[in-house]
Amino acid sequence: MTSRKERRRRYTTSARNSQTCDYVLDGDILYKRRKDQVLLRCVDTVEAKLILEEVHEGVCGMHANGFTIARQIMRFGYYWSTLEGDCINYAKKCHKCQIYGDKIHVPLSPLHVMTSPWPFSMWGMDVIGPISPKASNGHRFIFVVIDYFTKWVEAASYANVTKSAVSRFLKKEIICRYGMPERIISDNALNLNNKTIAEVCNQFRIKHHNSSPYRPKMNGAVEAANKNIKKLVGKMIETYRDWYEKLPFALLAYRTSVRTSTGATPFSLVYGMEAVLPIEVEIPSLRVLLEIKLNESEWIQSRYDQLNLIEEKRLKAIRHGQMYQKRMMRAYDKKVRPREFHEGDLVLKKISPIQKDFREKWMPNWEGPYVVKKAFSGGALILTKMDGKSLPNPVNLDSVKKYFV
Ligand SMILES: [Zn+2]
Repeated sequence: MTSRKERRRRYTTSARNSQTCDYVLDGDILYKRRKDQVLLRCVDTVEAKLILEEVHEGVCGMHANGFTIARQIMRFGYYWSTLEGDCINYAKKCHKCQIYGDKIHVPLSPLHVMTSPWPFSMWGMDVIGPISPKASNGHRFIFVVIDYFTKWVEAASYANVTKSAVSRFLKKEIICRYGMPERIISDNALNLNNKTIAEVCNQFRIKHHNSSPYRPKMNGAVEAANKNIKKLVGKMIETYRDWYEKLPFALLAYRTSVRTSTGATPFSLVYGMEAVLPIEVEIPSLRVLLEIKLNESEWIQSRYDQLNLIEEKRLKAIRHGQMYQKRMMRAYDKKVRPREFHEGDLVLKKISPIQKDFREKWMPNWEGPYVVKKAFSGGALILTKMDGKSLPNPVNLDSVKKYFV
């Protein structure tokens, strides 16, 4: 068991470290700390691809250029080491962007809806109880709700967890504070009536899932958080007959100190800074915290694992940065060289104004792709369609542009 002094020392050390760190780890999730202290969630290649697709050409995508998409993705709270380069590359290779040239006109995007979770989009629900003996006010259940992204927790105690209680809680404590959740995941626990939750979710048009088949990996994190909040509350119940009065303090203790060993508290992930704890609040909550042994050893083990990974991630970021610079220099070099095409190159052909007269106003400016069959030294090109059929006339090289795949 760690002494209060030791815990305090570790807390301040990690708080200090986190101020100089560019990255923050919380469980499985790596965050990049922006200059203004906002945390961006680091995503892997697969997730990055989905986000790119969604932001560039999804339901509300505007086919914006690479630099704009990159800034947009960061505003949504995501980050990866090759973000900007990937965005530029993605926009460059987009078929629609290429055939419409620079003349693409699209309305401003409405509120963007992402399919992947961000803070407060996905909440896990659980019920602790029945607690025996009852609290002095007759309460014997605690309804606990945890945000999957930040592990932020909200909870309330009840005599019975009824449908109207759940509905009221959702309105007052979740929707009014954190906005509409995208989905709610409820545990298969015996004392949580899934039908009740499903009905309430339906009422607010929130998607509902049972936990076990849904994202087992993420669910592990919520289950661990659940276990810890249960331990914390369990200890309080033993200690105080009026435990329902102490619940907010337990929540504060959890939000501000449970994950100090990983260097990030739920509070810091939500507010981008550590809470300043009044001593009279800190002491009783720390006392409760100190008396129970949270799964510290598991955290330390995973912390070691993650430290090894973060090193790799940083090295990769440096390497990518250098490669990106080289790529940009090569692209720049290409730009200043006169255009030349070779046999087998893919190109787009400008649609002539005469051709366009027969078409609608919003037709593309370019057509293709075509394959260069022969390139003459004077600048004329013979093009074929993708199926190998030649176009009737040769075209001049200034009416084609390179097509990227
Ligand atoms: Zn596009």
